[in-house]
Amino acid sequence: MGRRRIAALLLAWMAVAPVRAADALESFAVTEIAPGNFVHYGRIEERSPDNLGDQANIGFIVGGQCVAVIDPGGSLAVGRALRAAIRRITDKPVCWVIFTHVHPDHIFGAAAFREDKAVVVGHENLPRSMAQRARPYLNALKRDLGDLAAGSEAIPPTRLVVDETVLDLGGRSIRLKAWPVAHTDNDVTVLDESTGTLWLGDLLFVDHTPVVDGKITGFIEVLDRLAALEVPLFVPGHGKTAVPWPQALAPERDYLALIVRETRAAIKRRKTIEEATDEVGLTERDKWVNFDDYHRRNVTTAYTELEWE
Ligand SMILES: [Zn+2]
Repeated sequence: MGRRRIAALLLAWMAVAPVRAADALESFAVTEIAPGNFVHYGRIEERSPDNLGDQANIGFIVGGQCVAVIDPGGSLAVGRALRAAIRRITDKPVCWVIFTHVHPDHIFGAAAFREDKAVVVGHENLPRSMAQRARPYLNALKRDLGDLAAGSEAIPPTRLVVDETVLDLGGRSIRLKAWPVAHTDNDVTVLDESTGTLWLGDLLFVDHTPVVDGKITGFIEVLDRLAALEVPLFVPGHGKTAVPWPQALAPERDYLALIVRETRAAIKRRKTIEEATDEVGLTERDKWVNFDDYHRRNVTTAYTELEWE
């Protein structure tokens, strides 16, 4: 192969390489799990230019007059793919973008809905949490996605959920509930009242190792309150399952309860935090994807919470 030919090939590759990365979301699919409730299932894998932060389950609800987005996804590219999916289904305006909580895989696509002048909605604690974390989260996004992170932005909510808020989408009400500290200190669930579909954000992990960034005992208490509800259909924050409610909550609750039990026992035996992270909860390893990425941090969080009991 001549040098000129190689140069031409290299130029051609450089021209298509960014496009190939941007095409990572070309097959962006949404599933209508209940009338008017559309879910995009994110991938259970580490963030990379190949997935552009498409890691969380996100989606939207279509009412008679308005669309409400539930989490715009992990980057502007994901938010744009979600917006394009909405536009394939309806031309009704996106009136609300609801954040289920602060984590970057759920929030960074919000700028895709700026042109819709959508009102951004979140837990009353979300503005404070977002103010503290926006910069480190954005730096990490740029580290992982490089130029493909461009335009991704943490947009603070202007409408806050204190206890409960009902939004009217036009002949369809959705009920937003702000929960006490659990997965984070700013967890919100969304209930589509006409179909009984409950969007849980990261209060429910399926397959993906549960993450505790709030309070582990609070997380269990919230799960017990959720389990008492009648929920015909639900959307986890990560993963999907055919197991019905409330049994679908059991693996996560068992995991969290085991950590609490074993961490309390370790503290009682005067184990250090390092010793506890080496031994607590390891029997759960085979039940979860990405266990090694999150488990030790969960035990650390649990230890610092439980050592003051
Ligand atoms: Zn989360």
